[in-house]
Amino acid sequence: MNGTILIVEDEATIADTLLYALENDGFNSNWVTTAHQALETIAIGKTDLVILDIGLPDMNGFELLKEIRRFSDLPVIFLTARSTEIDRVVGLEIGADDYVTKPFSPREVVARVKVILKRVSRTDQATHDSKKRFEVDTDAAVVRFLGQPLQLTKAEFILLRTLLEQPGRVFSRAQLMESIWQYPHPSDERTIDTHIKAIRAKLRDIDRHAEPVCTHRGLGYSIAP
Ligand code: CA
Repeated sequence: MNGTILIVEDEATIADTLLYALENDGFNSNWVTTAHQALETIAIGKTDLVILDIGLPDMNGFELLKEIRRFSDLPVIFLTARSTEIDRVVGLEIGADDYVTKPFSPREVVARVKVILKRVSRTDQATHDSKKRFEVDTDAAVVRFLGQPLQLTKAEFILLRTLLEQPGRVFSRAQLMESIWQYPHPSDERTIDTHIKAIRAKLRDIDRHAEPVCTHRGLGYSIAP
């Protein structure tokens, strides 16, 4: 099974074409007609992605998305009918992953569902992989690498923890400096390079071939996802 899709749409004919197209492609799909039913279904926790109509009888799709975002970061695709709705979806930071305009081709919707789910699962995998290698114990201020504790200075610990919080994200030296000192610091940004060098040496002591810290020339550093 490819995943479970929740369709929130009060028009049966539209929901039907989507259900048909999704099930044809091996998706499990559920259909509800109101925002309240949608919230109940999402709360159960078996949904992988939501296709959300903006014009719903009990709440509009924008409000519903806000409610969903209170407790869930599920991917959401909006179905929009009017150009005013499209403007809001495109123009505002409302936390939707994509949108399609009515009338739409169900196959197009299914294609987007696939793209988004693939992206989400890659991100999850990346986070999972780095978490397997690294273990951060914030209370004890210890990072373990492949099960062994690293002997880090305070600055090195904060730096590594910051990088590990978002595997794959490139942090600039300035951002890393601020994570250490909490405020813009007058010391040279090259200090970061020195700390990174020290961290790398400590990682290599544990695994000679380990190179989890990536240098991005002119940009900064990241942890390899
Ligand atoms: Ca509607």
